[in-house]
Amino acid sequence: MSKQASIEPKPAMRHSFPLGKIMGIRIGLDYSWFLIFALITWLMAGSYYPSEFTGWPHALYWILGVATAILLFVSVVLHELGHSAVALRYKIPVHDITLFLFGGVSQIEAEPPNARAEFLIAIAGPVISLILAGIFTVLKPAFTSSQPVWALVQYLAYINFALAIFNLIPGYPLDGGRVLRASVWAITKNLRRATLIAANTGRFFGLLFIFFGVMMIFRGDFGNGIWIAFIGWFLDSAAAREVHQAMFQGMLAGHTVQQAMGHPCPAISSEMALQQLVDEHILGTGNRCFLVEQAGQTIGLITLGRVREIPRENWPATRIGEAMVPLDQMKHTEPKSEVWSALEEMERDGVNQLPVMTDHQVVGMLSRDDVITFLGTMKELGG
Ligand SMILES: [Zn+2]
Repeated sequence: MSKQASIEPKPAMRHSFPLGKIMGIRIGLDYSWFLIFALITWLMAGSYYPSEFTGWPHALYWILGVATAILLFVSVVLHELGHSAVALRYKIPVHDITLFLFGGVSQIEAEPPNARAEFLIAIAGPVISLILAGIFTVLKPAFTSSQPVWALVQYLAYINFALAIFNLIPGYPLDGGRVLRASVWAITKNLRRATLIAANTGRFFGLLFIFFGVMMIFRGDFGNGIWIAFIGWFLDSAAAREVHQAMFQGMLAGHTVQQAMGHPCPAISSEMALQQLVDEHILGTGNRCFLVEQAGQTIGLITLGRVREIPRENWPATRIGEAMVPLDQMKHTEPKSEVWSALEEMERDGVNQLPVMTDHQVVGMLSRDDVITFLGTMKELGG
């Protein structure tokens, strides 16, 4: 799997356990991954190996269980690095690779520039998995003298093959769905339509998995049934998110920040203490942001979030000018920019609003709420 820019807040790296860097990309473990690591170890040591290979010492099953879980993790990282390496070749920055409950996610920071790039980035992961499956298959006969190692290598060959096949299911956002999207994109020259078709195919496969999972549960195979239904539910909800996003992007297409932005925040003096700002201007007014002025010039922005970062006991002694974000450090957008690209920028920077600026003057603010209000107004106008 690989994930690209979306308007949802991205899973932040700070919630994951950092492992280090490869090719300049941070590798991290989401905390949910530790759960899956324990589960895989337990399933391999307690069920798979003892039933396939009887009569080994108890400890050996557990050593193999841990080794399998670690090497499965290495396999998933290599799959993700496959996507990332191709993305980097197209000069698309890759922020990080995080391993979580269902495998890995590469935070690739932009949409691919063209269908060919999309195709190559998407196919690279499954190709790596297939190569790994091939290597383990070729290595297998070398270990016939050591049964436990042979068993491990055999399982790794199987699981990498399964990883490639599962990811090649042509439902977006799986890798196969990206291949489908790239193909439709190449034919129709319309990325949004391609996303809609590929994501709806993803929903179809998700619902198919749920259907088969439920069938299996009714036929008595509870363990496998619930697992397949769960994967289906996961795929369907991921695909549904992409469908909504593509529709959302379609509604915003061609609209500029100027049309959607709200009023600029009220102005406030840089000399005022934070305590006075909170008591007289935030409480009771509902204002959450202020333009900071000095001698009639806007020099920065202060938000509720910024105030909260400063310990409460320091509020009386801290001037707004010391706590604000200076104008030249502020991420901003322009009135003529596309609303959609401004939203993407907010998502990348993890902020809820952007000042709208022309010639070093703040002419308005664009927040996520403004965009939703704008869409609501357009709907009422029948647009
Ligand atoms: Zn992948």
